[in-house]
This record gives sequence, C-alpha cells and structure tokens, in this order.
Amino acid sequence: MEFDVLIIGGGAAGLFCAIESSRRGRRTLLIEHGPRVGRKIIISGGGRCNFTNLGTAPENFISENPHFCRSALARYTPDDFVKLVRKHRIEYYEKKLGQLFCRDSSRRIVDMLLAECERAGVTVNVGCSVTRISKDRRFRVETKQGSYLADNVVIATGGLSFPKIGASPFGYQIARQFGIEQVPTRPSLVALVRPKGEARSELAGISVDAEVTADGHTFRENILFTHRGMSGPAILQASNYWHKESPLHLDLMPELDVKDLLNSASGRAVQVSNFLTGYLPARFVETLPEKALLGRRLNSLSDREIDRVSEMLHDWHVKFVDTEGYGRAEVTLGGVSTKELSSQTMESRKVPGLYFIGEVVDVTGWLGGYNFQWAWASGFAAGNAV
Ligand SMILES: Cc1cc2nc3c(=O)[nH]c(=O)nc-3n(C[C@H](O)[C@H](O)[C@H](O)COP(=O)(O)OP(=O)(O)OC[C@H]3O[C@@H](n4cnc5c(N)ncnc54)[C@H](O)[C@@H]3O)c2cc1C
Repeated sequence: MEFDVLIIGGGAAGLFCAIESSRRGRRTLLIEHGPRVGRKIIISGGGRCNFTNLGTAPENFISENPHFCRSALARYTPDDFVKLVRKHRIEYYEKKLGQLFCRDSSRRIVDMLLAECERAGVTVNVGCSVTRISKDRRFRVETKQGSYLADNVVIATGGLSFPKIGASPFGYQIARQFGIEQVPTRPSLVALVRPKGEARSELAGISVDAEVTADGHTFRENILFTHRGMSGPAILQASNYWHKESPLHLDLMPELDVKDLLNSASGRAVQVSNFLTGYLPARFVETLPEKALLGRRLNSLSDREIDRVSEMLHDWHVKFVDTEGYGRAEVTLGGVSTKELSSQTMESRKVPGLYFIGEVVDVTGWLGGYNFQWAWASGFAAGNAV
C-alpha cells in the first residue's frame, strides 16, 4: 500500500503529527507496535497528564543546541494546545507554576487525539512492528503486517524510558542506519542513587522543602528520601543537569537565614539539634553530619561554629553515583543530534523525507508539562512540512 506520510510511533508526537499531516490532505498512516496508542500519555502526570506548561520557553529545555527548539515552540504554543483541549470540553486546572493537568483523567487527552485523527482521516495500525526501512526513490517500510511505500517517514518512537509500556531503541537504530549523528543518551527526570553506605534508608519517605542546584541551575521544590538515595520534584529537575563527577548542592532551609536564626537564639541553653527540629524533620536532623556541633547547646557556639552549621544547612554537597535507570526515568536525555535536523521542519538534512520528532530528538524538557509541549510542537512542525 502507498501513503504520502508514514509515521512510526503512536505516542504524543506521532499522533499530533498524524493529525496535522492528514488535515493537510496527505494520505497518512500511523504505525504503533504496542496494543494501543498514547500509553505514556495515559500514565503521565499521575494519571492526569500534565499536558503543557503555560510558561514554556526555550530555557526550559536541554539540548546540545539550546536554540534548536525555539522555532517549533514559537509556532505551536501552550495556548494553541489549550484551545484544542477546550474545544473538546476537557476540564483542566493549573496545579502550580503554569502546569496544566486534566481534572478527570489523562485518557481524555488520548481520546481527543484519536477523535482528531479520525476526523482528519488518519489510518492507525496498532500491534504493527516494523522490521526494515529502506530508501530508494521512496521509502519502503516492511512490517509484520505487510510492506508500505511512502514519500515521507516520520520517526516518533520516543526515548528509552519505561520500556514496559513500549519504549524501544528503534528511532536510534534508524538514525544509525542512515548515518545520522546522535548525542549519547541517559535516563533523566529520575531519582538519584547515593554511594553505598551514604544512602540513609531509615529516612525513606521523608520529604523536605529544599533548593537544589546542579550545574548552575537551581530548583526550589521538595526532595524525597528513598531507600537508595533521593527523589522528589527538586531532585528530578536537577537530574537533567547532574553529572556523575559533581555533587548536587542542597539548601535545606531556603526560606531562612540559618546564621541569623542561630544568632538571634544564641542566648538559649537548648541543644542545637533540638532547636533545628523546629524547622526540619527530627529523623532527618539526627542523620546530619557535624554530630558533635549539633549536640552542643546554642549558647556555647562560637561565631565560626554558627557559620559551620549554617553552611551545612544552606550548602549541603550530596554525591550521587547513578540514576534509578530507564525503568523509572520520565525521559531520555540526548538522542538524534539537532545538527542533523531542520529546526523548522524536523527533516533530516542528509536524508530528505525522513523526519524525527518528540523525545527521540536531543531536546529534553524540565518536569512540568514541557516534554509534552515539545512533542506537540515538534509534531506540528513536521506535520505541516511533510
Ligand atoms: C511516568 C511518566 C510520566 C510522565 N508525565 C509527564 C507529564 O505529566 N508531562 C509531560 O510533559 N511529560 C511527561 N512525561 C514525559 C512524556 O511522556 C514524554 O516526553 C512524551 O510522551 C514523549 O512523546 P513521544 O511521542 O516522543 O514518545 P512516546 O510518547 O514515548 O511515544 C512513542 C511511541 O512509539 C512507540 N514505539 C516505540 N518503538 C516502536 C517501534 N519500533 N515501532 C512502532 N512503535 C514504536 C511506543 O510504543 C510509543 O507509543 C512522562 C513520562 C513518564 C514515563
């Protein structure tokens, strides 16, 4: 069978691209190897899909070329997606910091995308595995359900995270097959693992409001202690910028000036650790370093010792040795190099007619709806070019 456009991967980016391409009159086939499309959308945002972020800007993305995402994000904005959500009468709310979530269920977003696919006339094949792609004048895509000819092929197979719901390295393999450069991948928006002996499993479940800094980027949200290290939104955000060799810097009392606080209470005979439990969970205070100092009374501390306590709480250096891996990561950093693609259309510079969109590209967003906005925007760009 022949199509103008064949899209591989029925996730956020692939579905959106299919809608735009078909709406423009292109005969469009969407191929998904899983039993259903949009499975990541369904589990996203705790089942409520944080489908966009009103404050989306290029600065919220990580890529070897931080400017690459600019054009696509400008041409399809969070407001555009909100209009579509409204048109389908999907109720949503802003949780915090511009993050929009479905009020009811993320399933509504998948239903909306499928309804738009149907209206535009997209052919959707699920449970269909591609075995080979070759290019002569046109692309020949061989699948377990037969082979297809297409003028354009769009790779929308996402990253490596959450393999249990369909993630595969297919997109990277196709890039390699066609000699397209890639940026090394690694799991991100993911919990981090501390060195053996330094993880405090007794703290698992405790959460602290903190400011976490990695590679010059600071995030103020909760951190959550886990059996092997730390998680929570502030750590997930920082994981995008974390490098094995450099510790994260944690300010555990970002709202307060610990030095002022200790100075103003310096006449009291209360133990430093007891005093701190007024601000931090007691179980956590028990595990802080500088045990000797924390056991002393406030009125016995010298100025230098107050400085040391302040530094420990405002600039705690925490080393991590690993991430919890692709099985737990929300996204994959790296991917198809942006040097290889047109930022206007997502088309390969080397292989005309071959496009890469969504997470398979080396563009990764922060936590908070940015990754879906990239999927919609890059899908829109390609859908309007094919
Ligand atoms: C648990 C979790 C929660 C998340 N929550 C949010 C959130 O609330 N907000 C947000 O912005 N981002 C969130 N993300 C990230 C977001 O889901 C992804 O960035 C986004 O889905 C990427 O879209 P995509 O279309 O590029 O890839 P995907 O959505 O992963 O879609 C890729 C599709 O391709 C299919 N596929 C793979 N290989 C093949 C193959 N060989 N042949 C055919 N089909 C194939 C897969 O089955 C899949 O359906 C979350 C991620 C996870 C894992």
